[in-house]
Amino acid sequence: MGKVPIPSRDATCGARKMRRKGLAIMAVYTADRTDSPYATAFGPAAALSCRECGTRFPLSPIFACQECFGPLEVAYDLPTGDPEALRRQIEAGPASIWRYAPLLPVPADVATKRNLHPGWTKLVKADNLARELGITGGLHVKDDSGNPTHSFKDRVVAIALEAARTFGLTTLSCSSTGNLAGAVGAAAARAGFRSCVFIPHDLEQAKVVMAAVYGGELVAIEGGYDDVNRFCSELIGDPVGEGWGFVNVNLRPYYGEGSKTLAYEIAEQLGWRLPDNLVIPIASGSQLTKIDKGLQELIKLGLVEDKPYKIFGAQAEGCSPVSAAFKAGHDVVRPVKPDTIAKSLAIGNPADGPYVLDIARRTGGAVEDVTDAEIVDAITLLARTEGIFAETAGGVTVGVLRKLVESGQLDPAGETVVLNTGDGLKTLNAVEATARPTATIRPTLAAFREAGLA
Ligand SMILES: *Cc1c(COP(=O)(O)O)cnc(C)c1O
Ligand SMILES: [Zn+2]
Repeated sequence: MGKVPIPSRDATCGARKMRRKGLAIMAVYTADRTDSPYATAFGPAAALSCRECGTRFPLSPIFACQECFGPLEVAYDLPTGDPEALRRQIEAGPASIWRYAPLLPVPADVATKRNLHPGWTKLVKADNLARELGITGGLHVKDDSGNPTHSFKDRVVAIALEAARTFGLTTLSCSSTGNLAGAVGAAAARAGFRSCVFIPHDLEQAKVVMAAVYGGELVAIEGGYDDVNRFCSELIGDPVGEGWGFVNVNLRPYYGEGSKTLAYEIAEQLGWRLPDNLVIPIASGSQLTKIDKGLQELIKLGLVEDKPYKIFGAQAEGCSPVSAAFKAGHDVVRPVKPDTIAKSLAIGNPADGPYVLDIARRTGGAVEDVTDAEIVDAITLLARTEGIFAETAGGVTVGVLRKLVESGQLDPAGETVVLNTGDGLKTLNAVEATARPTATIRPTLAAFREAGLA
């Protein structure tokens, strides 16, 4: 662990180095840009394509466009056959994200490989919460705390892990706001990879423990997430990072696809229908943009009826660069220095911020934020109405949902799905002041009466 250098404060962006490395990898495939030696390992995935200029590249461990520097994403030759047959195939699949293998960049036999088999979490009909919020059109909580390491991150890591396996990378890594480090550590342990993960030094104790317990290397960086991320970009450009798969950096195009499974599950669990409104947390914005991508694919494949839906993004006020840009009508996101109890969402310079703005505006949704006090209120509201204990990120989405209804931005007569992406046991500090014993008494009936509880 001592071998890993500590970043200097004035570390500059590693983009130049990354570009050189990207070019080196690309040179191997100049003959035919979309012909990859890995093609069968990625199922229906055909290529990587640039989200800015559309240039296509072979499936490989690169993440930035060689032409314009734009982010790359996975492009598909999706099945064109009978949607009814595809629906049946999915329904007969395993109770994990691998039921959607025909729509993901993974081999067809992925369910037989050593990974954590995340997903197929509960979609909870939340009538009590709906009543409390004045929602009449139906409300569901997609509860992703039920994943193997208790956050939605197991979905994205599972796809990145399979890509790392295919590319022959031997160390799994990430820059994390907390949950990702645990998900990478666990996935690497199960699959037999080395792992070395990077976190900000001031995370919640439960997240530090979960990142360390699986036996990989855990490095705490003196700085916030944005410093950690910059440091990881430098590592990738350095010989030290040779053979490393940073799930959310050089494997980011594959990683991102894991979030599509949230869209697929919500639609399937609603009986192959799309809801009217979705409320989604924003850290880097990857999850939100890929849920939209997943919903669009379902429509294109004929798996659901084409209908409009609105996507709402949720941030904490103490880290709300996307919400601020949305409200100001800007297309660009000005970075901020995060200060919020919602540490899992504390990314001051969100990579997918501009795409989130596009999606919120295109679908007629919005991006809203709530204070730390509103986050705590929302955690206890969800717990007391539905028996779901969310981490601070779930407090953000439920708090934002409440605010959207109250301000008239979200139609309470529509059918709404709100995401809980993490487990309250990881952020106990947020509620420990209010969630306390009603009384501490001697074990006698008299004492129980004295305490006014009888
Ligand atoms: C990482 C994370 C998110 C979303 O992250 P994006 O970078 O926006 O994809 C949401 N909730 C929790 C609990 C997370 O850990
Ligand atoms: Zn490009």
